[in-house]
Amino acid sequence: MGIVEEAWERSETERILNHNVDIVAEKINLDHEMRTFLKVPFREIKVQIPLKMDDGRVEIFVGYRVQHNQTRGPMKGGIRYHPQVNLGEIRALAAAMTWKTALIDIPFGGAKGGVTCDPKTLSKGELERLTRSFITRISDSIGPNLDIPAPDMNTNPQVMAWIMDEYSKRHGYTPAAVTGKPVELGGSVGRIEATGRGVTYLTKRALKDKKIEIQGARVVVQGMGNVGGTTARLLTDEGCKVIAVSDSKGGLYNPNGLNISRVTMHKEETGSLKGFSGADYVTNEELLELPCEVLVPAAMECVIMEHNAARLKCSVLVEGANIPTSPEADNILADKGVYVVPDILANAGGVLVSYFEWAQDLQSAFWEEERVNRKLMKMMLDAYELVKEVSVQNSVTLRTAAYAIAIEKVSKAVRLRGF
Ligand code: NAD
Repeated sequence: MGIVEEAWERSETERILNHNVDIVAEKINLDHEMRTFLKVPFREIKVQIPLKMDDGRVEIFVGYRVQHNQTRGPMKGGIRYHPQVNLGEIRALAAAMTWKTALIDIPFGGAKGGVTCDPKTLSKGELERLTRSFITRISDSIGPNLDIPAPDMNTNPQVMAWIMDEYSKRHGYTPAAVTGKPVELGGSVGRIEATGRGVTYLTKRALKDKKIEIQGARVVVQGMGNVGGTTARLLTDEGCKVIAVSDSKGGLYNPNGLNISRVTMHKEETGSLKGFSGADYVTNEELLELPCEVLVPAAMECVIMEHNAARLKCSVLVEGANIPTSPEADNILADKGVYVVPDILANAGGVLVSYFEWAQDLQSAFWEEERVNRKLMKMMLDAYELVKEVSVQNSVTLRTAAYAIAIEKVSKAVRLRGF
């Protein structure tokens, strides 16, 4: 391992991401220069964000934007607000975006951003000022042909609207500078649900491949946010029985199935899952180990690790969250015969519809929802079939197959353009 790579490998998420790249690099004999080039990000930006709080105090926050690779197009990736955000995590998530966009064959590279903060403790005004301050500091490094942010954990269409406004103040009206915006500002219909919708399409296809009846299939979802909440609702609509869901504090479990619209209403009204009648309260650790046909981690990274993988009791694992599973856990799951649909494939629906949104903004011509969802379904299922084919042909997991397709595509593009 070279000096650059040693300096690069600093967090658990990076270790996992690197490991997945290394497995493929060995298999396809990727040379040392290319391996290093694909691991080291193009650019890392770390900024100080002074924020005037509602009570007049000034607090200093730190924000990051990591731009991993732009060989195949402008870089693309979400912005998250979370207390655990750090440079290593953002770096790994940025690289994951390069592989995801290559895998589903959209003309983007990978990036990711975040601010280390607890958005639950900030007022709406403070969130707006934090967002505007952050964008002011990175605005010369992003843009529709350079790097296009989107929503991720704890950011939503309103935050994207502030980003669009702040960017446009400096560069002129530019809706294509950010995706996941409200439809009124050039957002795409179907974007809010896109990631969960993609997870739903692939869950259905994976169940079919595993010859598991979708009607009544027991589903456990970790995380009731954008991805998890949408997935739980859409899989219920498909006839699955969602038996457990959770938020950051814990989860609800009812082996006979949860009424997802009632759970969502309860969460919206009380701000918590606690106190919901007709279900047991479980911890997030316990939730992952519940017997079910489908487990969908849709919250944080690094939740399925060596210490708990053997205790998982699902048949199919569909990764809604980014980087939820360690390589050691992957091996354990493979030995147990769990069918793993990997993150860079399973949750690609979000960036796919973000691509549709960017394309619509550039043309100022907007699509109907039926077209968005039809193209989303086709491209997700095509990518799944390709991954499956490569996996069967080479006797490797879906994850290794997905990374192999993506790495081959990016490295070819790098060679064509030159380093
Ligand atoms: P979100 O903020 O809308 O929801 C996150 C959910 O996770 C919330 O219900 C929160 O309570 C829960 N949560 C937070 N910490 C937790 C913990 N420690 N244990 C259990 N639950 C916890 O975020 P989101 O946009 O739904 O993103 C969820 C995951 O999906 C992330 O890994 C994100 O990177 C990934 N992802 C999101 C998108 C997208 O379009 N939003 C696209 C691809 C991947």
